[in-house]
Amino acid sequence: MPRIAVLTSGGDSPGMNAAVTSVARNAAYYGMSLIGIKRGYNGLLSMSEKDVYEMNLDTVLDLADLPGTYLRTARCPQFMDPAYREQAAANLRKMNVEGLVVIGGDGSFHGAQQLCNLGIPCIGIPGTIDNDLPYTELTLGYDTAVNWDVEAVRCIRATSRSHDRPAVVEVMGRNCGDVALSTAEATGSEIVLVPEMKWDIHDVADRLGKLIASGNTRATIVVAEGAYASMAPFDVYEFLKPYGKTVYPGQKMDAHLLASSLKYLCHGAEVRATVIGYTQRGCQPTARDCAFAFEAGNMAVILLKNGISNQVIGMRNNRTYHTSIDTALSETRNFKESLYNLINSL
Ligand code: ADP
Repeated sequence: MPRIAVLTSGGDSPGMNAAVTSVARNAAYYGMSLIGIKRGYNGLLSMSEKDVYEMNLDTVLDLADLPGTYLRTARCPQFMDPAYREQAAANLRKMNVEGLVVIGGDGSFHGAQQLCNLGIPCIGIPGTIDNDLPYTELTLGYDTAVNWDVEAVRCIRATSRSHDRPAVVEVMGRNCGDVALSTAEATGSEIVLVPEMKWDIHDVADRLGKLIASGNTRATIVVAEGAYASMAPFDVYEFLKPYGKTVYPGQKMDAHLLASSLKYLCHGAEVRATVIGYTQRGCQPTARDCAFAFEAGNMAVILLKNGISNQVIGMRNNRTYHTSIDTALSETRNFKESLYNLINSL
């Protein structure tokens, strides 16, 4: 019986379990056995009984609708070293594994690309809430994160409205502002800040001040967690210290300091901050993410069955498709600047 393996790697994202379930169901359907590898590439190196085990329809029965990843995930710094990658490839050969499905982000895909170069057929499924892989319109977890954040903004806004308090809402997105952009768009938020675009806190305060003056006392500022890196220099310590805020010299900007700074730049407006954080990753996957996971798992197994490897699954024109890992990793992102400008100007 041909044997394949599956692992999840990098940050967890809602929909990873649904993808593993789909791989397991398709493997069973096409008469393949499936090995589950725990803790990402670490499991390939340790090969301990705890990290490597046979998966079947029983083990995945109730998995698909669970958030997080049952296979666990972890970063594996050793995988940057060719000697460890060769060890991993040798371990897979020893287990007679003929193909590996890697569910993760671009770092994990680089690992898969290297394994392909060592003769291990690999297929990647994009699992990251950031949506930072340009070759695909959708990554597993992105739709879930946006829907979760939209609900959060609506809830926060109910209190913002009740108390006439503007809100800073920080969402995930270290290098990619897509989650922030979609959340702001879908909630009609007045300001969005992303890592891709440079911004100045004085411009934000100016816009917020004008919104408040025009009667919008509950404006929402959606900020991606990576957006502080694209902010024009602003010394939070020097600015907030005179107001009696506990801030340390050199302290980095964050959601709460942004809210405090805007408060004083906007003459005492009671700006409040909420960081949505891990709840975005640990929440129940949406129908869209689960459906994509279902199709991606099917395509991954069929590709391996047909001897096609070095591919990643993606979504293009709303259809599940595959392309080579090399092509996928060479594509550059096209940030939706006009949408960004629209949100920040209407
Ligand atoms: P993500 O897959 O979400 O982008 P990381 O960037 O942390 O997450 O990558 C996950 C893992 O993939 C890393 O811990 C490492 O084991 C492996 N990896 C990342 N980049 C490379 C690379 N250039 N070569 C080989 N393996 C890599």
